[in-house]
Amino acid sequence: MRILILGGTTEASDLASRLAADSRFEVVLSLAGRTAAPETPPVPFRIGGFGGSKRLASWLVAECMDAVVDATHPFAARISANAVQAVLSANIPLASIVRPAWQPQQGDRWTEVTSFLAAALALGASPRRVFLSVGRLELSAFADAAQHTFVARTIDPPGDLRLPPRISFVHDRGPFEVETEIRLLTQQHIDVVVSKNSGGAATYAKIEAARRLQIPVVMVARPSKPSLHIVADVSAAQSWLERRLALHDGSHSERGV
Ligand code: NAP
Repeated sequence: MRILILGGTTEASDLASRLAADSRFEVVLSLAGRTAAPETPPVPFRIGGFGGSKRLASWLVAECMDAVVDATHPFAARISANAVQAVLSANIPLASIVRPAWQPQQGDRWTEVTSFLAAALALGASPRRVFLSVGRLELSAFADAAQHTFVARTIDPPGDLRLPPRISFVHDRGPFEVETEIRLLTQQHIDVVVSKNSGGAATYAKIEAARRLQIPVVMVARPSKPSLHIVADVSAAQSWLERRLALHDGSHSERGV
């Protein structure tokens, strides 16, 4: 059975690794190409956009895909919308891995906002030292908050983006540990953390570190993201694929294929 995994997340890599050794599945992992040097996937992969939902639908048909797993990041809303439209027009089943959002715990000091510009405003008028963990492409939203000093963690250098005047970078890729996050926030004298509500374990350590250090967090809520059959994690996606495989094999044997 041929599977397309829409990736760029730890879930996508985990699912690809689990299926790589299973000869019943032929997997293609698709990456957007946002990071300069992505980790080499354990399965055949392609990099770059498809050119919208219609072209994605044509690609799925041309590549004889039998199922799609949308394992993209909770903030990657456009590719999910395209995927839903494409599978509906190509009549191919799709499961969407939707990580539960993080919920505030006792001791957390969150201000919840619904956009990156609102996050910049929520930092207030007085100068603060801000740890930005929002991804490279969202940094421009903080360009006019010139009263603050920012430490931004990104995988790649920012490139040609509009940035706040006082910003330094830590280039690193998750998963992260709580103790190293505590060290980073302490050494950088951070007053406030800005984070996307990504959910999942890989980047949660900074939230726990902020709680332990009693540092406030400006938390950007996730956008609404189209989905079809929702599964909560990689194991559930794998079970869904097993069920699709049984149906797929059944329909092929009925047709004498
Ligand atoms: P997006 O806004 O939803 O997608 C923008 C365009 O990028 C899509 O229309 C599509 O182009 C292309 N694209 C996105 N994901 C793709 C994939 N897996 N394979 C092929 N093309 C893809 O997405 P984004 O927020 O820019 O994120 C890009 C990628 O980075 C996603 O794969 C996501 O899983 C990963 N990521 C995102 C974040 C985040 O915070 N946004 C964080 C971690 C990882 P076409 O229309 O031309 O097909």
